[in-house]
Amino acid sequence: MSTLYDTLGVKKGASADEIKKAYRKLAREHHPDRNPGDAAAEEKFKEVQHAYDVLSDDEKRKAYDRFGAQNGRPGAGPQNVNFDFGEFNIGDLGDLFGGLFGGGRAQTRGQRQPVRGADVEAEVRLSFEDSLRGAEAKVPVELTVACRTCGGTGAEPGTAPVICPECNGRGVKAESQGLFALSQPCPRCRGNGTVIEQPCKSCQGSGRERRIKTYTVKVKPGVKDATRIRLKGKGEAGSNGGPAGDLVVLVHVDASPVYERRGDDLVVNVPLSYATAVLGGKVDVPTPEGAVSLKIPSGSEDGKLIRIKGRGAPRIGGSGKGDVLARVRIQVPKRVNKKERELLEELQKSSG
Ligand SMILES: [Zn+2]
Ligand SMILES: [Zn+2]
Repeated sequence: MSTLYDTLGVKKGASADEIKKAYRKLAREHHPDRNPGDAAAEEKFKEVQHAYDVLSDDEKRKAYDRFGAQNGRPGAGPQNVNFDFGEFNIGDLGDLFGGLFGGGRAQTRGQRQPVRGADVEAEVRLSFEDSLRGAEAKVPVELTVACRTCGGTGAEPGTAPVICPECNGRGVKAESQGLFALSQPCPRCRGNGTVIEQPCKSCQGSGRERRIKTYTVKVKPGVKDATRIRLKGKGEAGSNGGPAGDLVVLVHVDASPVYERRGDDLVVNVPLSYATAVLGGKVDVPTPEGAVSLKIPSGSEDGKLIRIKGRGAPRIGGSGKGDVLARVRIQVPKRVNKKERELLEELQKSSG
């Protein structure tokens, strides 16, 4: 029968320190943050937590040692022993994982971390022809930039930010609460360490303004609809020395009335008379660089694709071009003249 000591992997006479050490190691190993979606790990984590809850408490441990337990679960012994096993020791956990996983802790030092600027998205629309040729598109982007009036300081020109009198420039305030001194960002300067006494009138002291910048984006020949082009460092400016974000340009390509794009190939419909489809012949097929005379083999069925090599869309990042695929479309005339009618009736008779 496994005991709470077994759960933690320690001997029955283990010291409080040994128990704590074993618990920390196991709790880290099986913590749900480290094993997302792993039910077994979660179960194990609960067992470890539970074992520690009992064995780290002198009273509970004594009772457990005296009365024992079934399946490692105390409480199955004498009825008058009352454990409270539903509670986890949250304070201890926070202490343990706050440092380990790094998240969630308020920043109290007043140090300002470099923050990368946000990415900005813009869109351009190209005609189908331009998408094949490549294009240079002008992209206006509204960005937050340093205020031109104050140069980004936020202080009225001729004045300067002064050391915060509340925190003497440290950016933090220590607040005494009983035994603990809590460090908090200074409420007056919000951790900056400086305050602006005469805010710049243009930006109301923010040091920033919105401005439209126009970038020129080179779009390579052959670009497909919904392509995203990333321009490094052309997004919002970073703060505290952090890098700027990127400008992401979403390219829309208008549909073509002539071509249907399939990868780098272009499909184009070629209307044929029934006679040409049966007997074969020559037709002019449009391609982006001018019409090509195409030989239609005899007996071409409706929907047949005939490949014209190297006349399609330029391959992005590769060499050469895709193909044009001529798709045979057999035209059925709505009306025929007398002569045609006679010939067709004759044809109908002979083919049964
Ligand atoms: Zn300003
Ligand atoms: Zn301050």
